[in-house]
Amino acid sequence: MIKNKNQLTRRTFIKKAGLTTSLFSFYPLPFSSIFSNSTDDKRIIVIGAGLAGLSCAYELDQAGFNVILIEARSRPGGRVSTYREPFSDNLYSEMGAEYVDSSDMYVHEYCKKFDLKVLPAKQYDGVYVKGQTSTIKGLRSGRDLLPFKGALEGKLFGQEVQYIQKWIDLVKQKGISSPEVQALDKISVEDILKKGGAPKDIIDLYTYANATEATAVPSKMSALYMVLSNTRTSNFSENTVEGRIFGGNDQLPKTLAKKLGTKIMYNKPLQRLDYDSNGITATVKENKRLVQIPAKKCVLAIPASILKNIDINPGFSIEKINCINNQQYGHAMKIAMQYRQRFWDNNNSIGQRVFTDTPLRRVYHFSIDQPGPRGILLSFTSGEDAIKLGRLDNNKRLNIAQNTCRNLWPEAPKFWEKGVVKYWNEDPWVKASYSFAGVGQKDFREILAKPEGPIFFAGEHTAFQRASMNGAIESGLRAKGRIEKSRDTII
Ligand SMILES: Cc1cc2nc3c(=O)[nH]c(=O)nc-3n(C[C@H](O)[C@H](O)[C@H](O)COP(=O)(O)OP(=O)(O)OC[C@H]3O[C@@H](n4cnc5c(N)ncnc54)[C@H](O)[C@@H]3O)c2cc1C
Repeated sequence: MIKNKNQLTRRTFIKKAGLTTSLFSFYPLPFSSIFSNSTDDKRIIVIGAGLAGLSCAYELDQAGFNVILIEARSRPGGRVSTYREPFSDNLYSEMGAEYVDSSDMYVHEYCKKFDLKVLPAKQYDGVYVKGQTSTIKGLRSGRDLLPFKGALEGKLFGQEVQYIQKWIDLVKQKGISSPEVQALDKISVEDILKKGGAPKDIIDLYTYANATEATAVPSKMSALYMVLSNTRTSNFSENTVEGRIFGGNDQLPKTLAKKLGTKIMYNKPLQRLDYDSNGITATVKENKRLVQIPAKKCVLAIPASILKNIDINPGFSIEKINCINNQQYGHAMKIAMQYRQRFWDNNNSIGQRVFTDTPLRRVYHFSIDQPGPRGILLSFTSGEDAIKLGRLDNNKRLNIAQNTCRNLWPEAPKFWEKGVVKYWNEDPWVKASYSFAGVGQKDFREILAKPEGPIFFAGEHTAFQRASMNGAIESGLRAKGRIEKSRDTII
């Protein structure tokens, strides 16, 4: 757990030029030698080369700041991760962030600027729940009924709305900041649905619908956030039109990284951060050595799930530490399966993007804009199912995935070739999926985003549009803007 500033013996700030050589080794290697004697007062260090850190560093660089970007992994992009291995025929799959919504303006702006095409993704067309098959068309027309008690005809997502209508109306009448509305943050989605008279089936359906998107469980999600998202017309549903960057989402982080060139340093995890009103010193691991990098300011663009274990001296404010330590994160796993033929395109197929309550939850044809005959079925599962699969080894995960696909498409086993799994909660540089609004966390985002002395904060967990690529960029641009505003104190 990250330390509270007040619980620490305040340590003397390690001066930029005078390093504690007993603790840290310095060798005449390129990276170490760049920083060991530097006293560059204008330098800004951005930590974390996900879309938040990359956009922040790129924009700072464009605005003439002396920026360096430090990354723990050997690649840029963080949770944007396009796998090209182990697939055949140049197929690829998004094992992290996938969909770009039409309202994701920052992603669209960068794509336009860097000449990247966003192509529409497949929309839901099949449903497989409680062992029963139906189609979205059938649900829309009323021909198929969802086997969930209390569900309305004609739709899949949004079944919970009928049970929370009075709170939606309350927001409209009294406004978001009224105490009655704000009090909803103290209860969970599960609590409010029960209060509104929703049967258990509706809570279960919510688990497979919106809670799966949030990678969370209804008992931990804030009722306030759910009610507010339903006061907007753009709440996620089977009708949402989503896109993906043609050729792989990783092209966006790679392009930003290319623009930054040698200003990005890979394989250098931040271990410790010392700061005072004059500046910061970041201590990073380079191979087995520790290297100190002094700078005027710093942007922490790493997930709170990682930041909470970084040694910060002299700590942050109590409210910041509380948020870093307690920010809720979900669980997510993706499994990509390569098949020799695209049997899901056959006439008798359940569909090409199937909503399920199986351990795989969502199963869909990923490679719609890649040439066949081979193809990739991708599954996105989260919450309790991701946790359960996460306890198994990769072979068992893949066996369950194949068996589930056989239930959806009986001919699937004939065409199986290979598969790959990414469980984000076992990734050492995030240990989670993405943040969600937990019960009692209504003020977290704002507190997490607030600068402390020379330290600025970015990352999807600090963004209005949390849990998205767009939110990550939004946060990077916000941090850049705040640094720019304080420019007079830097140069
Ligand atoms: C399975 C999954 C599906 C998703 N689907 C979508 C989707 O469909 N659409 C969408 O918009 N978003 C989606 N997201 C969310 C999206 O990926 C994230 O919101 C966004 O990419 C986060 O960017 P970031 O820069 O905040 O964090 P990250 O991408 O996590 O970047 C943080 C960086 O910091 C680095 N780092 C960590 N610790 C250290 C350290 N100690 N020192 C130095 N560097 C460090 C990490 O290696 C990483 O590169 C999905 C995410 C997951 C996991």
